Amino acid sequence: MYDHRKLGRELGLFDSDPLIGAGLPYLLPAGAAIRHALERYIADLERRSGYQHVYSPVLGKRELYEISGHWSHYSDDMYPPMAIGEEEIVLRPSLCPHHALIYRSRSHSYRELPLRYAELGGMYRSELSGVLGGLTRVRSIQLNDGHIFCTLDQVADEARLALDLILRAYADLDLRPVRFLLSLPAEDAKIGDPASKYVGDAASWAQSAALLREVLDQAGVEYEEAPGEAAFYGPKIDIQIADAAGRESSLSTIQVDFHQPARFELEYVGADGNKHRPVMVHRSIIGSLERVIAQLIETHGGAFPAWLAPVQLVVLPISDAEEGYAAQIVRRAVDRGLRVELAHADEGSLGARIRENHQVPYLAVVGAREVAAGQIAVRHRSGDQDAAADAGDVLDELAMQCKPRSEQRGKV
Ligand SMILES: [Zn+2]
Repeated sequence: MYDHRKLGRELGLFDSDPLIGAGLPYLLPAGAAIRHALERYIADLERRSGYQHVYSPVLGKRELYEISGHWSHYSDDMYPPMAIGEEEIVLRPSLCPHHALIYRSRSHSYRELPLRYAELGGMYRSELSGVLGGLTRVRSIQLNDGHIFCTLDQVADEARLALDLILRAYADLDLRPVRFLLSLPAEDAKIGDPASKYVGDAASWAQSAALLREVLDQAGVEYEEAPGEAAFYGPKIDIQIADAAGRESSLSTIQVDFHQPARFELEYVGADGNKHRPVMVHRSIIGSLERVIAQLIETHGGAFPAWLAPVQLVVLPISDAEEGYAAQIVRRAVDRGLRVELAHADEGSLGARIRENHQVPYLAVVGAREVAAGQIAVRHRSGDQDAAADAGDVLDELAMQCKPRSEQRGKV
């Protein structure tokens, strides 16, 4: 594996500046291209899986986090409040309270459930500067988050759907989880005790843990129980990845929560006409964009899956005489949604230009023969070389190859 901090800078993906601050990296254009591809992918996957997208602010009043329980159970990781007149405003440590309030803003019937909200939004963690670095320990986080409001009967199906989406995303990203965890409270935890790390009641916790265990068992994935790793409001499934140094962290998660629906007094009207309390399933498919991009760099080096590659196709004219045709191929590729560059003839010998772009998934060398026939011949990153064929047909095929595997022809 590669060290993403070193390689990310060498590949021009991200950097940081002491004047912006520690733990606040920025993405350069090539890194932004990867993030944009991930954002579009995940939004589309969620839309096709019945999610509705929302946007909510990154700030909230201190009271909001007092109600959610973050203030008493998570404040070590939160930034101090900003006083504005009589109000105290904080940078949010998670998106859940905002989504609970969005749910509460409208009345809901059981017919609308499961109601799935998703948002790719910012959240903030107050970390000491000594532990910060690269994209994995940061103070500003863009999270692929989602909350499902459902009945108790629907929880297992929703958790199962979330696990399916996670496994599908890992296949498309070509990432391998190192472990699945069922994260539980510490064995000696006094759940609900005012001094406990965990809120709520022991019966709800046991019920949530049993539901998640059932989902893991049915999916047939091997998992380990991790006492002491639960969220303060409930047990969770964590999908673990490892970095180049072998350090493990959670990328994706599925959590069952009875606590926040109670704290925010969430309701729906049941078939019986009475008010009932929904359960909240929290889930993140690809985790934070910072962490998933770091993991992609460490796993793939600069040779990303084609749909994520900052540059997917480079067109290389053999001589100045083919520059005009090469520029035309670039325009046609851009029109098909490809990220494409032209490696001009005066930038070096053909061999040098090919070596320079060895991590790009597709290269197209154009000479006098291709110009005369209106063709291009594609050279793959593996070294395989296709025969020359009609330029439009080849570009259509490349546009298909530059989609995530699960979206390619015949798989949708
Ligand atoms: Zn949440």
